[in-house]
Amino acid sequence: MFLIFGTDLSEKVTNVVSFLCTFCGADARQEVITSSTRFTVFFIPLFSFGTRYRNQCTNCGAEVALTAAQARHSLQWSASH
Ligand SMILES: [Zn+2]
Repeated sequence: MFLIFGTDLSEKVTNVVSFLCTFCGADARQEVITSSTRFTVFFIPLFSFGTRYRNQCTNCGAEVALTAAQARHSLQWSASH
């Protein structure tokens, strides 16, 4: 018997907010992207680890790393506006 195991990277846009980008100065959509590494067995993801968050400007593509608390705050902020 043999096992095929490995990892893959999962990325998804978890929130979209709009504000002035500090890099390009445009009032553009900013995507909060959650990325995590998934452990797989026979190409089936079992669990995630190494979750990271970042903000990406849709106008210029500039990225800023976010903490988990900042990513949660963006969800709370967009829910209240
Ligand atoms: Zn920008």
